[in-house]
Amino acid sequence: MLKVGFIGWRGMVGSVLMQRMKQENDFNGFEPIFFSTSNVGGKGPDIGLEIPPLHDAYDIKLLSSFDIIVTCQGSNYTKKVYPELRKNGWKGYWIDSSSALRMEQDSIIVLDPVNREVIDKGLSSGIKTYVGGNCTVSLMLMALCGLFREDLIEWISSMTYQAASGAGAKNMIELVKQMIFVSEPCKEAIKDPAITAIELDRILTERLRSNQIPCENFGVPLAASLIPWIDVPVEEGQTREEWKGFVETNKILQTKEPIPVDGICVRVGSMRCHSQAFTIKLKKSVSLKEIEEIIKSGNEWIKFIPNERDATIKHLTPAAISGKLDIAIGRVRKMKMGESFVAAFTVGDQLLWGAAEPIKRILKIIINYLRK
Ligand code: NAP
Repeated sequence: MLKVGFIGWRGMVGSVLMQRMKQENDFNGFEPIFFSTSNVGGKGPDIGLEIPPLHDAYDIKLLSSFDIIVTCQGSNYTKKVYPELRKNGWKGYWIDSSSALRMEQDSIIVLDPVNREVIDKGLSSGIKTYVGGNCTVSLMLMALCGLFREDLIEWISSMTYQAASGAGAKNMIELVKQMIFVSEPCKEAIKDPAITAIELDRILTERLRSNQIPCENFGVPLAASLIPWIDVPVEEGQTREEWKGFVETNKILQTKEPIPVDGICVRVGSMRCHSQAFTIKLKKSVSLKEIEEIIKSGNEWIKFIPNERDATIKHLTPAAISGKLDIAIGRVRKMKMGESFVAAFTVGDQLLWGAAEPIKRILKIIINYLRK
């Protein structure tokens, strides 16, 4: 029986992966073994099966006996363990949620509803390293894959509204602490029926600027504010998050002529849904009706929201989409810049399609491939 090792299963991405695999009854047909970097001998996750105690995630000899290793542990772990395994001649499949190996020549970035052909070609040509993409890029491609498939896109500008979860569990907790801290004095003040909005704003802004606000992880307040910078600077004024838009999109699609993708990535106070506003330059003018049909046909998770007020405010928001596999897309219309310019807005859960779901699915694809 195939042996599959899981590392990083109790982190944020890992625990969503475990939950989804259990939901879909995916823990069958192989032997799942769980590892830890901090609690060797401890208890593994509840997957509805008897499993042995946790093994050491740094035990190269043991790891070398596995057919498939799935890691959601993070880049530092991958950079330490992966080269050692390969150096020792390990020929198994490595599935990774971290960015460490994404841009390596012999790795494939996985998002099978979008690049199943690339994955299948990779498997038959012997590629053994499969990596989940950047959450924002994966969510953009899921939303627009119909237009990409029809080769209609000349370039895209994506302005993002990214959730706290993309920065990690500590940041999500910090956002909630900030929400409590900034609103705390307003709780009393708002009881006064004569209080004005301007006075409430003064009280809240004072809290936002207080040096007591919890911001160890974000560095600044995110609650009742936003942060137009994600990750480290790279060349030409971009952040690394913005840089990934172009390089990962083109690697996922394996485009012959690279499609320019650029924009400004902004952290906002939503918990786990990333939103993005697109300006899309089409290669030719296509009717709005046809554009809508192509977007709807992208994949089975697309939830197309008509460009109407009620539908948009009810269904095209993080509040509506959080925790769901739906890829909501709406506000689709032609722009004033010209016939071939299209606007759209999308919302997706970044822990599902942005992280755990492509990993869950590539594991299944590889297992089925090995069984053939
Ligand atoms: P995480 O929550 O920090 O978990 C990583 C590891 O930290 C866990 O597997 C666990 O390893 C250890 N850990 C230590 N204290 C913990 C605690 N109190 N609760 C849970 N785990 C604890 O990391 P993550 O956000 O899932 O990200 C994992 C990788 O996926 C990263 O490379 C990240 O860049 C990538 N990724 C993240 C997202 C996202 O939205 N967060 C999206 C796409 C990709 P042990 O059990 O071995 O101690």
